[in-house]
Amino acid sequence: MNRRTFISSVLSTILLSYQTRLLAVKELTRFNKTGYISEPLFLEHHIMPDHPERPERLKFIQKAIQDSGLLEQIIPVSLKPDVGDWIKTLHTDAHIASIMKNYPAAHRVAEACVRACLAAVDKVATNKLNNVFCATRPPGHHALNTGKEEGFCYYNHVAIAARYAQEQYDLKKILIVDWDYHHGNATEAMFYDDPSVLYFSTHDLYAYPGTGDPAKKGSGPGLGYNINVALPCGTNDEMIINVFQNILVPAADKFKPDLVLISAGFDSREHDLLGCFEITDVAYKAMTKTVMQIAEKYSNGRLISVLEGGYNLQGISEAVVTHVSTLLEKI
Ligand SMILES: [Zn+2]
Repeated sequence: MNRRTFISSVLSTILLSYQTRLLAVKELTRFNKTGYISEPLFLEHHIMPDHPERPERLKFIQKAIQDSGLLEQIIPVSLKPDVGDWIKTLHTDAHIASIMKNYPAAHRVAEACVRACLAAVDKVATNKLNNVFCATRPPGHHALNTGKEEGFCYYNHVAIAARYAQEQYDLKKILIVDWDYHHGNATEAMFYDDPSVLYFSTHDLYAYPGTGDPAKKGSGPGLGYNINVALPCGTNDEMIINVFQNILVPAADKFKPDLVLISAGFDSREHDLLGCFEITDVAYKAMTKTVMQIAEKYSNGRLISVLEGGYNLQGISEAVVTHVSTLLEKI
């Protein structure tokens, strides 16, 4: 080796080592920026005293988030000031008018949930945050256009967020992952013939609302874009993790979403008042990771998770802490 080659070789080695160190530093500091939405307004609605869908659900979650030290790591996100006409993209005027007239408090609070989801879309679509958890209530995935409360739901926030992302930000393909114990019948119905939204749900077919048959796969151009996975009572971590790995991941690889939304119901957790699955926080962590990996691979990390059901106060607060701390982790 002559002198010139030797010097060039040493310089290359130094440069390579410097670049490797820079990459390592970048990698080490690349934690997710996670937003969190929680507003006192979400407490201002009761179906009736002692109903399981109660304000205490969010009080327990908020306390657990504070006690776990997560509050210092997450970035608070405010509600979008105005909901505009976005609820009307999926709900009829007659439904909205009926909810406003018959359940005025629920209308105000459910509308605030939509404002939360729209704000979350604004943040991830403009790359200000990687992901956002919306600690909202009431839930939304059973809200059909019947003019009534359906399964504690009034407006389908997650579905409206999907339409908003498509129309406002040109995020064309949306994956909705629904791990609530119950089937999200309204989400299925709203996108049943729509190939731009892939709806994936794990649920108990024999629970409310009785929909979610795996044979229902979508219709017309939407055929193949509705995936129902019916699971039995006693479903455990291994069973649901297998479903996520073997059914959700290949479907997402084929679909390649531009944005991922989670209908995050924690009534699929063990000891829930309304469910009979035996899922623990070990599985919620694994499921969150799997969905984050999908978002990272296809959606530039864009992921929004919205609370749906979950009625064991202690249980859902522990699950949310696990879920949010996972959202904060590096992929
Ligand atoms: Zn549920």
